[in-house]
Amino acid sequence: ITIKNLSKIYRTKSNTINAVNDLNLEIEKGEIFGVIGYSGAGKSTFIRLINRLEDPTEGQVIIDGEDITALKKNKLRLSRQEIGMIFQHFNLLWSRTVRENIAFPLEIAGVPKQTRRERVDELIKLVGLTGRENAYPSELSGGQKQRVGIARALANDPKVLLCDEATSALDPETTDSILKLLIDINKNLGLTIILITHEMHVIRKICHRVAVMEAGQVVEQGEVLDVFSHP
Ligand code: ADP
Ligand code: ADP
Repeated sequence: ITIKNLSKIYRTKSNTINAVNDLNLEIEKGEIFGVIGYSGAGKSTFIRLINRLEDPTEGQVIIDGEDITALKKNKLRLSRQEIGMIFQHFNLLWSRTVRENIAFPLEIAGVPKQTRRERVDELIKLVGLTGRENAYPSELSGGQKQRVGIARALANDPKVLLCDEATSALDPETTDSILKLLIDINKNLGLTIILITHEMHVIRKICHRVAVMEAGQVVEQGEVLDVFSHP
């Protein structure tokens, strides 16, 4: 993933905010890349630019040689299937079961029913939710909800998984179990993971490299141990 001169400016009545300001980054295939920064640093805007929930004011996001910022609206749906995303508050469909939540992106992608069923079974096993298939989100623990979120994000076999404060609403033990699952997925599926967080211990536990964001810019980047051992 190549991020080139990426900027997002929000203009409100009273001011202009450079949420992302001329950002440049290279993220390798198969790595777990962390983006850390205080609230307001521009992390969420950055991640929303990667999955095109926002259009950039300037710059490019190139995934596997394809400039996704240049894609027309009708091609976006396809490109979004190549990017999975998980959220702090899970964003599950509350009136649907675990199985139905995980099947949802497959339905949207037009996957036939039988294939869908098999794929959902696989995903349920992968994230460790066997036995909870027919539960509703309100009946699940936070960790189980995030497992549903992960399964749903992986349903269409994406190249990239974006994690937006994915463990910030979880207790330390549950956080560890979710991070361990992400490490397994990264290893076994070779999936590239971009993880944004304000928590340094999350970065330390699972990221290979990290970028520190401040005021829309990357102020430091490198191997996790190098970046965090500076005085
Ligand atoms: P972080 O995720 O690091 O907390 P954000 O990307 O949410 O940072 O926000 C970066 C800056 O952009 C903040 O100053 C925020 O107030 C501003 N911002 C984010 N989204 C919008 C928006 N839709 N309209 C106006 N300003 C926004
Ligand atoms: P939060 O801590 O931000 O409320 P949740 O993951 O609990 O995050 O909820 C995400 C969204 O789903 C929120 O808008 C919340 O109001 C809604 N929600 C949470 N629980 C239920 C439920 N049992 N039934 C319907 N909607 C719910």
